[in-house]
Amino acid sequence: MAREPAPSLDAIAAAVLAGETSAVALLEAAEREQARREAADPPLNAFLAFGGEHARASADAADARVRAGESTPLAGVPVAVKDNLCTLDYPTTCGSRILEGYVSPYEATVVRRLREAGAVVVGKTNLDEFAMGSSTEHSAWGPTRNPHDAARVPGGSSGGSAAAVAAGIVPVALGSETGGSVRQPAALCGIVGVKPTYGRVSRYGLVAFASSLDQVGVMARSVADAARVTAIIAGEDPLDSTAALLPVPDYVAEMQSGLDGLVVGIPDEFFPDELDAGMRAACEAAIDVIRATGAEVRRVSLPHTTHAIPTYYLIAPAEASSNLARFDGVRYGLRAAGATTTEDVYYGTRAQGFGDEVKRRIMLGTYALSAGYHDEYYDRAQRARALIARDFARVFADGVDVLFTPTTPTTAFLIGENDADPYRMYLADTFTVPANLAGVPAISVPIGTAGGLPVGGQFMAPMFGETAMFAAAYGLERALAGGAE
Ligand code: GLN
Repeated sequence: MAREPAPSLDAIAAAVLAGETSAVALLEAAEREQARREAADPPLNAFLAFGGEHARASADAADARVRAGESTPLAGVPVAVKDNLCTLDYPTTCGSRILEGYVSPYEATVVRRLREAGAVVVGKTNLDEFAMGSSTEHSAWGPTRNPHDAARVPGGSSGGSAAAVAAGIVPVALGSETGGSVRQPAALCGIVGVKPTYGRVSRYGLVAFASSLDQVGVMARSVADAARVTAIIAGEDPLDSTAALLPVPDYVAEMQSGLDGLVVGIPDEFFPDELDAGMRAACEAAIDVIRATGAEVRRVSLPHTTHAIPTYYLIAPAEASSNLARFDGVRYGLRAAGATTTEDVYYGTRAQGFGDEVKRRIMLGTYALSAGYHDEYYDRAQRARALIARDFARVFADGVDVLFTPTTPTTAFLIGENDADPYRMYLADTFTVPANLAGVPAISVPIGTAGGLPVGGQFMAPMFGETAMFAAAYGLERALAGGAE
C-alpha cells in the first residue's frame, strides 16, 4: 500500500496555531476517512465509537484555545484512544459485552494529558476483549482488518489503534501493552509502536488486565511523533503510585544523535532457526544498515527469554483472573436478565458477558493460583520472570545500549488462521513479552516488507532508557529513508 508522505504532529499543530487549518477541519477530514473505510467491503472496523457531538465539542474547545492565544504542542491534533482507556464522553467497553454502554465517571490520566496538550480525541478503537489477544479478532464487535490486506489481521490487542493510524484516519493513537499489544500490531500494520518502561506512564484509567505488566503505549507514523507523545503522557501522577517520580527527558531533542556511538546487541535467542525467512532477511538487512551508521553491533545472549511465553501465560492470566473478578453484574455494565439470587447474577452475567478467550484466561489463572498449584505454577513463573529480567540487566551492564530483534515471528496472518489453536496465537508474542516481563522499554519500527507485508524491527533499552531507545529507532528510520546518519 503506497503511503503519501504524512505531516508530522509538530507540523499539524503548527498549521493549527498559524490558523492555516483548525481542529474542526482536521476532525472533519478524519470523519471523511473513517466513513470511507467503513463504506468499504469489508469495513476496516477500527473504531467502536467515532466522532459525534463529543468530538465536535472537543474540537471547538481546542480551536477556542488557539484563538485565545494559547500555544499547545498537539493543538488540534486528532487522536484515537484504545477502548480500554477511560474517557468521560465515549463509552469504555474493552471490546466486551460485559461493559456494553458503560461510561466511566473519570478519565484516564493519559487522555487528560493529551487533551491538555490540545489534542482532540476522535474515537475509541477496537481491541481484543480486555486486551487479551494478538489479532483483534476477539472483540465482541467483530474483527478489525489490516489496512494493507483486508483478509489479514492488524495484530492485537491494540489492532484498532494500529489500523486507524496505518489507514491515515488519525496521525497518532494510544494503545496498551501487557505482552506486546502495541508493538505487535504496529509491526503488522507498518507503523511505529512504543511500550515505555513499566512505571514511565500513569496507568490511572487503564482498565486492568495484568497489573504488574500493563502499560499505556503510543502508536504513530514516525519515531519523532511517537517520542513527542510519549513525553507528553509520561511522568509522575498522584493518582497512580506505580508512575515513577522521575523527570521526563525531552526525547525528541535528545534522540537526534541517532545510532552513532551506540552499542547494539543482537540476542541469539530472537533469531531461532525456525524464524520466517522473509523476517530474517529484513532484519539482517536492517542490522547491516545499523552497522553502516557507525553503531557497534555485538552478538549477545538472553538465555532465559526462551521461557518467556510460558512464564507470561501464567502470570498474565493469574493477574487477570483476579482483576476481572470485579465484573460481577453489580457495579459495571451488563447484568444477567432474570437472575434472582446474588449467585445467579454473578454466574449469569459472567457467562453471558465474557467471550471464550477471556473465560479461558480466567480459568487458567484461577487454576494457577489455586491451593496446591500456586507453588508449582505461579511461584515458579515468578522465579522465571526474575531470571529473564536478570538476563537483560546483565547485557546492559556489559555495555550494550540497546538490543535489536524482530518484533514478531511472522508478518500479518490471515483472519481465522489461528482459531483452532490458541497456543499458536500466543506464539505471536514470542519476541515482545520478554520486555514486558523485564519491565524495560521497547519500540517497533517499520524496517521493510516480506511477501508484500510490513515487517517491524524492535529496539529494547534498559529501564527508563527511553532516550537511547528513541535515538536508535530514529537513527534506523533515518538511515532506511536514505537520510544522513
Ligand atoms: N497478546 C498478548 C495476550 O494475549 C498480549 C496482550 C497485551 O499486550 N495486552 O495476552
